[in-house]
Amino acid sequence: ADAGNVKVVVRVRKFIKRDLEKHSPCIIRMNPNTQETTILPPEIASEDVKTSRKVYEERKFTFDKSFWSHEETDGHYAGQQDVYASFGEEFLDHNFDGYHTCIFAYGQTGSGKSYTMMGTLDEPGLIPRTCRGLFERIESEQNSSITYGVHVSYFEIYNEHVKDLLGPRTNPPTYLKIRESKSDGVYVQNLTDEPVMSYEDIERLMKVGDMNRTTASTKMNDTSSRSHAVFTLTLKQIQHDIATDSTIERLARMRLVDLAGSERANRTEATGQRLREGGNINQSLTTLGRVIAALADPKRQRASRMTGLQNQTKRRAEVVPYRDSVLTWLLKDSLGGNSKTAMVACISPTDYEETLSTLRYADQAKRIRTKAHVNQDAVS
Ligand code: ADP
Ligand code: MG
Repeated sequence: ADAGNVKVVVRVRKFIKRDLEKHSPCIIRMNPNTQETTILPPEIASEDVKTSRKVYEERKFTFDKSFWSHEETDGHYAGQQDVYASFGEEFLDHNFDGYHTCIFAYGQTGSGKSYTMMGTLDEPGLIPRTCRGLFERIESEQNSSITYGVHVSYFEIYNEHVKDLLGPRTNPPTYLKIRESKSDGVYVQNLTDEPVMSYEDIERLMKVGDMNRTTASTKMNDTSSRSHAVFTLTLKQIQHDIATDSTIERLARMRLVDLAGSERANRTEATGQRLREGGNINQSLTTLGRVIAALADPKRQRASRMTGLQNQTKRRAEVVPYRDSVLTWLLKDSLGGNSKTAMVACISPTDYEETLSTLRYADQAKRIRTKAHVNQDAVS
């Protein structure tokens, strides 16, 4: 098994309309040599800030990578291809080696999560680039002794319900159940898992899925900022060795997750019960925070390294609350188990409080360790 920390990167986006309207200065600095990200106190402290006596100070963080996507004219500007080249490609390599991987985007609404994961037609993000890279590689190895099979699924978690984004549209919408079995782990029952033969096949499915997301959002306001979208590619490799007449099968899963806006979790924490009753709580996002906190806890890490009966009680007391939400239950392996995992913390260049909260969250995620192993079986 290959144990390692969750890879954590941060990306700051350019100014968009709402920043320009506020005439806010950019409060983020990144050092391309040290990967250090600094958040500066906003220059203009409003009345509001003074009365609530909040302390705004300069804070520094170091991540595995800091992506400066703020101004294209800067020498260290990181565009979509730079983000993919710096760890998307590496994660695809892991998949071909037989490891499960997971990349998730975290950040407040409007911070660039969907831009980073899906991107636009002109500037495709990690998901389309990964899919393209996958087929380029399969095609380049066409005459090897390996047979490939690729499947795609795409679902959304909204209000603790799982909706198949590739399934038939029904009225009322159909929600899928989550199941857990010894052989398959945690999975979504009856989820569409389409076999695909080319990048074009996937492109068509991405369109279907995104349409199913946006159609819903015009009915219920801002679904996409409240829902988690999970895109999953499954890569099966069957290798036959003529010399020994043996066959091995490798099955790797890559999960690419666009999380709900993190401001939901923050606000809920501040206001508590009232919001919960109003149905505004995002159970999956608040639980994700608790799971990350539990996994990052040094006490727990020490306990999990120890063996023997005397630690059983200790371990049970520090149990990770995966089962408390749909998202964390489904991503259990990706978060603290058999997976190589990365988090992209997306930040706005202007919102001090939300941005600081995202940076702190990301800083904590750095301490999480996973233990990936090659998912390989001898079939004959
Ligand atoms: P989120 O999914 O986190 O709510 P979006 O990805 O929709 O945020 O980004 C908000 C807006 O900012 C979109 O118009 C998007 O195109 C733009 N944007 C985000 N990140 C970048 C970036 N790195 N470069 C250029 N535009 C960006
Ligand atoms: Mg989005």
